[in-house]
Amino acid sequence: MRGVQETVLYEEAMDLKFLDEVYGIPGGDKIKDCIQCGTCSGSCPVSWAMEESPRKIFAMIRAGMRDQVLDSLTIWTCASCYQCAERCPQEIKITDIMYMLKRMAIREDRRRSRKARALSECFVNVVNRYGRNRETELMARFALMTDPLGSVALAPVGMSLFSRGRLPLGGSKVRDIEGLRKIVAKAQELGGE
Ligand code: SF4
Ligand code: SF4
Repeated sequence: MRGVQETVLYEEAMDLKFLDEVYGIPGGDKIKDCIQCGTCSGSCPVSWAMEESPRKIFAMIRAGMRDQVLDSLTIWTCASCYQCAERCPQEIKITDIMYMLKRMAIREDRRRSRKARALSECFVNVVNRYGRNRETELMARFALMTDPLGSVALAPVGMSLFSRGRLPLGGSKVRDIEGLRKIVAKAQELGGE
């Protein structure tokens, strides 16, 4: 059995505030029921590309490892396919919790989340402008926002793709662009980020 001093040290190492935050979100409390069976990791189509498997992320959450969880690129590798959530024997809302972790990482302005945040902002701006994605403009905006000097080095690749017709510049807007902008504005108002 753990001694009193050992318990105090153990709890100091855990970020209890982080646990409270995660357990406080809708469905977050269910993380306590995780039996570490690994069904989520086994079901995940992109777990091979993750820094930590979904199963490990849940173990890290329960250990109160705020920095390690919120700085893990796993949360950004998640493709939101819901396979894990469908199969979890404890009915843990894994995908929703991944979303929540992304929001926490953005809110705390975590360095490793900045590029994902920039890509998300560029995407919303492009969709707000045209009502649909334009990959060329999205990539140009993203490169300028995150690595202006590096984007200059990529210019020859861009020219080569353009000359082969792989980087379309034109495109039309959707018909009711104002209606779509209202929807995006409302989503931003409700989402906060
Ligand atoms: S499938 Fe559910 S219970 Fe099993 S490790 Fe993943 S989150 Fe935990
Ligand atoms: S929702 Fe995310 S973590 Fe779950 S299986 Fe899909 S990609 Fe993997």
